[in-house]
Amino acid sequence: MDPDIPVHADVRQNPPMSSRMTSIPAHQSDNRLDPFFEQLGHASHALLILDYDGTLAPFQNDPQKAVPYPGVRQILDRVMDETDTRVVIVSGRWSRDLVPLLGLKRIPELWGIHGWERCLPDGHCETAQPPVTALQALAEADTWVNDIRARGGRAELKPVSLAIHWRGLDPETAEEIRSLVTSNWAMSARDRGLELHPFDGGLELRVPGRNKGDAVRTLQSEMPDAITAYLGDDFTDEDAFTALRGNAMGILVRPQLRASAAQVWLQPPVGLLDFLNRWLVVRKDRHATA
Ligand SMILES: [Mg+2]
Repeated sequence: MDPDIPVHADVRQNPPMSSRMTSIPAHQSDNRLDPFFEQLGHASHALLILDYDGTLAPFQNDPQKAVPYPGVRQILDRVMDETDTRVVIVSGRWSRDLVPLLGLKRIPELWGIHGWERCLPDGHCETAQPPVTALQALAEADTWVNDIRARGGRAELKPVSLAIHWRGLDPETAEEIRSLVTSNWAMSARDRGLELHPFDGGLELRVPGRNKGDAVRTLQSEMPDAITAYLGDDFTDEDAFTALRGNAMGILVRPQLRASAAQVWLQPPVGLLDFLNRWLVVRKDRHATA
């Protein structure tokens, strides 16, 4: 890797987040990507791992309306059709819920529910079994969310997590909800094995044991000589950024910069579309001359 790109090992020595990126203005990100794309053009294999919500698709209050930014589908279809890139989508959602939202011509490999579920392009899915006690605690936690809903918060029970959203509420109410969730978790859910994780606009109680880093470790172990990029927006993607090894780059995709273990920040949709287009062109050229 080019010396201008921070070495991954350095980032990992300062967990959980590196402050390196805070000094990178968005308009400089392209320059930092030059050596990466240079290598992508010569690599024997290419692995493109993409988070969905907040990365490929802007947030919506109704998650069922969260479709990709205009242009993303077309580029991803072309990357899958016209290059040899292995495209993988990771998400906190079930894979079956992602497929109609993605709207791609071909279904890529999908890792759902924070790494607990893996679905291959041929439709074969495997789901790891979470601990029963943690699942029971999750169901019980769902019973105290009325207080949160009464304040305008939104509770979303997922297979291995309960997400509490306060996006769009005033800061005072958001703080009330944060306090309620934290105290309820400390009183009843923590001892039952649930973890508490922040995300953009909320808190999530989650069954521990798997995360997006597991997807990265598995995929990279299957393609040890591939040049890899992981694009993500949220705190859950930090597990993936810190799991990246070797010839790989973590890319934070979000409107505002924050501290992260990623090496480059891109602002969607323009920065994201530019990156995917560049990937398509570079890898297509390599495909044509291979
Ligand atoms: Mg996301």
